[in-house]
Amino acid sequence: MSRKKIATVWLGGCSGCHMSLLDIDERILDVAKLADIVKCPIVDGKEFPQVDIALVEGSVTSDEHLREIKHIRKNATTLIAFGDCAVMTNVTGMRNYFPLQEVLDTSYKNAISNDSEGTMPDHPALLKLNDKVVPLQEVVNVDFVIPGCPPHADTIFYVLFEFLNDRIPDLSDVKKLKYG
Ligand code: SF4
Repeated sequence: MSRKKIATVWLGGCSGCHMSLLDIDERILDVAKLADIVKCPIVDGKEFPQVDIALVEGSVTSDEHLREIKHIRKNATTLIAFGDCAVMTNVTGMRNYFPLQEVLDTSYKNAISNDSEGTMPDHPALLKLNDKVVPLQEVVNVDFVIPGCPPHADTIFYVLFEFLNDRIPDLSDVKKLKYG
């Protein structure tokens, strides 16, 4: 069994899924025996490399996210939708119920712009949001999903460990699928 490479990414999410990943605690040593974590937003921001497993948190909210997820798809053997925002947009997708301009005005206009026209503030730190948030599987093929908001650390570890041992995880067993 060959040593694997893992990357983790966040798109449109709150980073809570990554916080839950950190909750695998000392089991990270079991992961480290079998794989290298070559990219993770908590520790670096380098270009996404070729990997065996990509854990992708969050949904696709912008053209920038769309380019990123397509790049990840090309470079990951197994792409895992990591958490409910990646799987079905979840909290990130709540803005889909409202016109984008209304969302932007409510979120930013009064906070950082004096633009009386109510247009999107032209600030380099802000993503140019698309009208609608979409889940990963709407724009790329997804190989596996880890549900939960956030997924439980036990579930994350179980899924990772199975893939690292060249097995397909089975989340039909409710004992392996923990929440919160
Ligand atoms: Fe945050 Fe929940 Fe979305 Fe994960 S699934 S990014 S914890 S809102």
